Amino acid sequence: MDSKPIIFWFRNDLRIQGNPGLTHSTLSGNPVIPVFIYDQQNETPWENGAASNWWLHHSLASLRDNLRKKYNCQLIIRSGDSLEVLNQLIEESGAEGVFWNRRYEPAIIKRDSLIKKSLRENGQVAQSFNGSLLIEPGDVLNKSNNPFKVFTPFWRQCLTHLKNNQPQLVAPVNKPALGNDWSDISGLELDDLGLLPDLQWDSEFYKYWKPGEQNALKNFKEFYKSRFEDYPSKRDIPSISGTSRMSPHLHFGEISPAQIWHHLDQNYPNKNWMQSTFISEIGWREFAYNQLFHFKELPSQPLKEQFSDFPWDENPDHLRAWQKGLTGFPIVDAGMKELWVTGWMHNRVRMIAASFLVKQLLIPWQKGAGWFWDTLVDADLASNSLGWQWVSGCGADAAPYFRIFNPVLQGEKFDPDGTYVKKWLPALKNIPKKYIHKPWELSLNQQAEAGCIIGKHYPSPIVELKSARTRALMAYDSLTK
Ligand code: FAD
Repeated sequence: MDSKPIIFWFRNDLRIQGNPGLTHSTLSGNPVIPVFIYDQQNETPWENGAASNWWLHHSLASLRDNLRKKYNCQLIIRSGDSLEVLNQLIEESGAEGVFWNRRYEPAIIKRDSLIKKSLRENGQVAQSFNGSLLIEPGDVLNKSNNPFKVFTPFWRQCLTHLKNNQPQLVAPVNKPALGNDWSDISGLELDDLGLLPDLQWDSEFYKYWKPGEQNALKNFKEFYKSRFEDYPSKRDIPSISGTSRMSPHLHFGEISPAQIWHHLDQNYPNKNWMQSTFISEIGWREFAYNQLFHFKELPSQPLKEQFSDFPWDENPDHLRAWQKGLTGFPIVDAGMKELWVTGWMHNRVRMIAASFLVKQLLIPWQKGAGWFWDTLVDADLASNSLGWQWVSGCGADAAPYFRIFNPVLQGEKFDPDGTYVKKWLPALKNIPKKYIHKPWELSLNQQAEAGCIIGKHYPSPIVELKSARTRALMAYDSLTK
């Protein structure tokens, strides 16, 4: 081998094609060493939750197998402090530098900036790329050169920017640069990372998800072919598969928004896809990253400062009931069961379940965000923090706190037949449609007839809705005085 190798450092960009950092490393003309470093110590307090680790394991397995089968190349897996590991690898391989795609979580930006500085000070090449967003945070600002706080003008400005600066699709990865034998560089086996759970709570995940680059592309193409057109009318109905379910694929970078953008650009016949509801949801993901970039405390501190004094009621029994799907409110409990069983929850139900925790139970949103963080396969610091701040009314462009979702009415509106609720709560399967979202209103005889005694087969409601609403509004009023 004549030229010195370049290390390509995989992170949340677990794909080979459409990967700017990887393509540029191969274009450098140097042989490329693909590396993944499991470095949770530098991600605290936001190291991966259990469900994310499940996904990561399978996504890495898929990447490792693809590299081996298609390029005859090893993925070197290590764990530990990223800079130390990179320095060890440089020493062992004689590499002349490291390429990677950027991440935007505050702790990671800090870590990666130090790594870049240190590598360069040691005479190494250190280059990073945008592989996960349509627009880099900070590239779109309002007229006063400040970050946008409201989604609609932000996205309008993004679309204008994107018309003139189309996200770039990089050239396919060239084989010779990747196809080298790195068997003399030691690495861990994927299982050594211990990403899969000891207790097998994940058995159902296999039914719902297939991580990996090929599946991400296949799933997106399938969504585009059969569900994209009806997305605006079906995306709010949790009982049907009306959304793309791309969130974990996007979070782990098995597909990029730029690839999605180009697919729509090339395939959508009447070309008004830029105005589509679907692409504006991708826009919310961009907005979330912008918010996190500009407001580093987004995951822990309310953006509206007065919410720091909110009179929360940290009732641990209520929190547990919510986590386990035992609140007695079917749409909330069904969502929490879906989350537990599949590692994902429909967006509409995320909003209802989160709102119930924060408003009817008055439990701090950070507790809910923490539970989602551990249980979602798509747990994403930007989108999760934005979602919780939005629901809680304390985010920049948030639903007002005094707009309190009623879980019965929300259930009746978005799951009128109770199909979703019955799927996740089989105890309710014979409850008549009229009562499916308020089964406690059935008489004891009717409950016996439906084979579901409230308080025995399905929990009694843990709060009374009317008084919970009054309590929430009083708590909110205490802030505004
Ligand atoms: P689709 O409706 O098909 O949307 C396509 C893509 O757009 C999604 O995959 C996602 O990447 C993006 N997107 C859609 N809606 C949003 C949104 N509101 N904010 C940011 N991006 C969005 N999303 C996450 O990816 N990770 C999280 O940890 C997360 N936590 C959330 C917590 C709460 C309380 C709420 C209300 C929302 C949260 N979301 C999160 C946003 C949203 O619920 C999910 O992105 C969506 O349900 C994923 O399903 P999908 O891929 O079928 O979405």
